[in-house]
Amino acid sequence: MEIPETEKSMKIALIKGDGIGIDVAEAAKEVIDRTLEVKQVAKFDYCEIEAGAKYYQKTGLDIEPEGEEMAEQCDAILLGAIGLPSVRTSEGTEVMPHLRLREQMDLYAAVRPVRSYSKSFQRLSDPRAAKIDLIILRENTEGLFYTAATSGRTQVANDYEVRETMRITRSNTEKLHRFAFRLATKRQQQGKNALLTCVDKANVFKSMAFFRKIFDEIAVEFQNVETSYNHVDAQALDLIRHPWEFGVLVMENIFGDILSDLGGGLVGGMGMAPCAEIGDQNGLFQPSHGTAPDIMGKDLANPLAGILAGSMMLDYLSEKFDYQVLADCSGMIDQAIERGFDEDRLRPCESGGDMGTQAITEEVMALLDEINRRE
Ligand code: ATP
Repeated sequence: MEIPETEKSMKIALIKGDGIGIDVAEAAKEVIDRTLEVKQVAKFDYCEIEAGAKYYQKTGLDIEPEGEEMAEQCDAILLGAIGLPSVRTSEGTEVMPHLRLREQMDLYAAVRPVRSYSKSFQRLSDPRAAKIDLIILRENTEGLFYTAATSGRTQVANDYEVRETMRITRSNTEKLHRFAFRLATKRQQQGKNALLTCVDKANVFKSMAFFRKIFDEIAVEFQNVETSYNHVDAQALDLIRHPWEFGVLVMENIFGDILSDLGGGLVGGMGMAPCAEIGDQNGLFQPSHGTAPDIMGKDLANPLAGILAGSMMLDYLSEKFDYQVLADCSGMIDQAIERGFDEDRLRPCESGGDMGTQAITEEVMALLDEINRRE
């Protein structure tokens, strides 16, 4: 089928990374490409960038020369996952160039949807668990990851003591909370639960009291949004007791890192947990999970988190360039996954099913073709 020239061909940085990151990035790319084809949108122009633990082993670099600049110049970045526990830098940590990318491009907001699909695997026996549909909004450039993003920031690091820093800045936190309120407003418009909860530990840490103070200041600008507070430990408890009651949860970096794994676990596993890392100029899209060395090379990874991240990228590009057809492409992928679970055609190994990476990817493609034929 001839694809007509459209207004714009998007330039996408593709960083596959390591372990299952490679498989799920390829799955996401395949699904995106098929969607563009059926919607007759110009193909994306991919700029593949080498980065990660394997690349570090080969070259001593964690990302190829100029890789960061190349990524920044693209319209969006699609990433698999980076790092392997067996490959360590001289500081004893894993290879993590993506933390630098976040900081360099100021990708301050990590949007991590946690959503149940009908008939998909339910970890909680309460039937209301089928209604889980919330967003963990994780601050992405500072918090307790501040010293991890770039070497040389740890003030005390010797064999007797190590100190990491919790950094909360006003400028970044204001942007994050505004983003959270806008997200809650968008959910209101979509008829979804839009309760916005500030998750912190404001009773103990000055940094967290500051985080909450700024939340209250920004709340004044968005009087229409219903808000609440929760301490992070209580939030972990409530995510098990009644996750269906939450809409958007905004929090500091490490809290978001931990609670998003809990969120993934609630809805079938990390293979169901996509992530969009958004800044004022750039967006990076990836699954919330890591490289999962325990299952790599076995065709066991659930690619849906990567595919859903790809769908979030299409939505982002649609807004960024005011290009509606890409939002339609995103909607089509979401619809394919919904239908796949509804009709019991998506059964990831991760949650006890019989379908590996290849089988899930092929089924999503078949669903896309069917939806297209019926439209
Ligand atoms: P990181 O800190 O980089 O996020 P991690 O140590 O939290 O990594 P993950 O790689 O996210 O670890 O994996 C955690 C667990 O979830 C592992 O047991 C892994 O097998 C499983 N897992 C992660 N992603 C998937 C996936 N897409 N499909 C199936 N299982 C997965």
